[in-house]
Amino acid sequence: MKIDVLTLFPEMFEGVFSSSILGKARDKGIVELNTVNFRNYANNKHNTVDDYPYGGGGGMVLKPEPIFGAVEDLPFVADAEGVPVKPRVILLCPQGETFTQKKAEELSTEQHLVFICGHYEGYDERIRQYLVTDELSVGDYVLTGGELPAMVVIDSVVRLLPGVLGNEMSAVTDSFSTGLLEYPHYTRPAKFRDWEVPDMLLSGHHENVRKWRARESLIRTLERRPDLLEGREFSKQEKAWLAEWEKEKAAKAKQAE
Ligand code: SAM
Repeated sequence: MKIDVLTLFPEMFEGVFSSSILGKARDKGIVELNTVNFRNYANNKHNTVDDYPYGGGGGMVLKPEPIFGAVEDLPFVADAEGVPVKPRVILLCPQGETFTQKKAEELSTEQHLVFICGHYEGYDERIRQYLVTDELSVGDYVLTGGELPAMVVIDSVVRLLPGVLGNEMSAVTDSFSTGLLEYPHYTRPAKFRDWEVPDMLLSGHHENVRKWRARESLIRTLERRPDLLEGREFSKQEKAWLAEWEKEKAAKAKQAE
């Protein structure tokens, strides 16, 4: 996979792209990570990339020429037959589709991703209309620029590429990948202060541990993110766990009275 990031602050990516999982993926040649300062594509002597909004009002607007110029100048990535691949051109934007694990999975199957990091008040609308294929938001809040959101999206996509995570299974059981939140984890010591690890995890019985985790994952999702369960077809086993949990909850409430 090749990832190009168009930004006015390429230095912000240096640490992130060379550390941890992203750094390793890059060193292994699984992903090529590249930044382009689109100020280099400004077509005026002062190198300005923004201008006042038509119609007045506060804030500056990113001009179309530098961003179109930078995207159109990116070298093509070729597929296995040597045919140029059409890149996904992703605009980071609080008005975009909210980024999810599902979207990360979808993007991880692409060969070429281009991220456009905004700044100031916004973009000239023609960038949205005629250049981008996707608009992504990292949540319902406003940041200063698209750099941090781009890092969030890139990290979550790259860790899904084959060979990036040491243990391939760890991405498979991650929260959201299964449609549920992940089960709780424990490590040594078995007793820390007065708090003990659940007996089941010490039993060494793999099938029972798998079932315990599946139940915990379901209950945790119900308690914290019931929205994720909307429309889910519960298995017979899951229905039984839910009924059991309702009973446990009722018993606890009675005890507390
Ligand atoms: N005036 C814009 C609006 O209300 O939609 C917000 C502009 S924001 C100050 C500047 C840039 O930060 C945006 O163009 C975008 O690239 C980035 N940004 C801010 N919040 C974001 C979010 N939640 N998700 C993705 N990008 C965001």
